[in-house]
Amino acid sequence: MLKAKETVLEIDLKALKHNFNYLKSRLKTDTHFLAVVKAFTYGNEAAAIANCLQDLGANYFAVAYTNEGVALRNAGITKPILVLHPQAVNFNTIIKYQLEPSIYSSKILHDFLLVTKQQKTSNYPIHLKFNTGLNRLGFIAHELKDLLHILKRSKNVKAKSIFSHLAASEDLNEKEFTLEQIARFKSISHEFENIMGYQPIKHLCNTSGVLNYPEAQFNMVRCGIGLYGFGNSALENKNLIPVGRLKTIISQIHTLNAGDTIGYNRAYTCTQNQRIATLPIGHADGIGRPYGNGKGYVTINGRKAPTVGNVCMDMIMVNVTHINCNEGDEVIIFDTQNTAEQLANTANTISYELITGISQRVKRVILN
Ligand SMILES: *Cc1c(COP(=O)(O)O)cnc(C)c1O
Repeated sequence: MLKAKETVLEIDLKALKHNFNYLKSRLKTDTHFLAVVKAFTYGNEAAAIANCLQDLGANYFAVAYTNEGVALRNAGITKPILVLHPQAVNFNTIIKYQLEPSIYSSKILHDFLLVTKQQKTSNYPIHLKFNTGLNRLGFIAHELKDLLHILKRSKNVKAKSIFSHLAASEDLNEKEFTLEQIARFKSISHEFENIMGYQPIKHLCNTSGVLNYPEAQFNMVRCGIGLYGFGNSALENKNLIPVGRLKTIISQIHTLNAGDTIGYNRAYTCTQNQRIATLPIGHADGIGRPYGNGKGYVTINGRKAPTVGNVCMDMIMVNVTHINCNEGDEVIIFDTQNTAEQLANTANTISYELITGISQRVKRVILN
């Protein structure tokens, strides 16, 4: 593999394919696969990854917001795209680009029905979201009858799927709660089918749901983080390969004396002669201030170099006193060995936050 000459996020499509196939191997043969590709495919690179997933056989896609769905259509995605959290102001765009909204409240249903009536759509696909315990978005069970009464009278829309979202599928201490969510979703599904007389697509599981609750696959699952190489457990991380590898180089090395200070606010004072490397990556690139002052680290020539001082907008400084390295050498921020999850843990956060935060300023390089 070529050594980095600037800050780059390498995207390994072979790893993506491995992860897709691994998650598929955990599904029953007739369970459909919805690939969650929101937030630039979790901070990676949406167009190449979504197209690769489409070629691999993903049945469905989901994004959070309308503009993400429009970008996927413009990038050649022809499979159905669910918009998980649409706002009414975007409903005309949703229809123009054949995106499929999650309908999560009476207000959003009312607003969408108005637009579909104006546009005289017929059976426009919508997805009904139910709140079974996450208490974030969704109808509650006792709203179901009124909701279905409205839907039965509309020819403009049709509920293509019903779904809910698990609050703690990765946490086996919360198994009882998760089983209760599964039971609630089952009961909502039965009531839907009794009243409407047809079977919609039903989906509940995210990545950890797939891995921990195989009995809850229904007709479809929605996987995000697993596709990008993280399984939310040491065991499952072994079965997956991180897709994104963030690399940079050493811009400059300073040899400093005891008492010299480093960076803004003089947050670090050298206790002895030290070699400090400056790297062209900072909080504007997604390495937030919590990684500063020795919390986070990078890897240079196989050795860990902790941050020193505060993270700057465009740079961090790391201690390389004990590392044999030169200006221009490659630096690993995270890769398959030194994972984003491990780095995220140094700042008390999770892989999701670190990888989705890698800003659009960082060059993406697609491999394989
Ligand atoms: C983001 C999201 C997912 C994907 O979850 P992962 O843990 O990344 O697999 C699934 N469903 C909904 C509703 C989401 O918002």
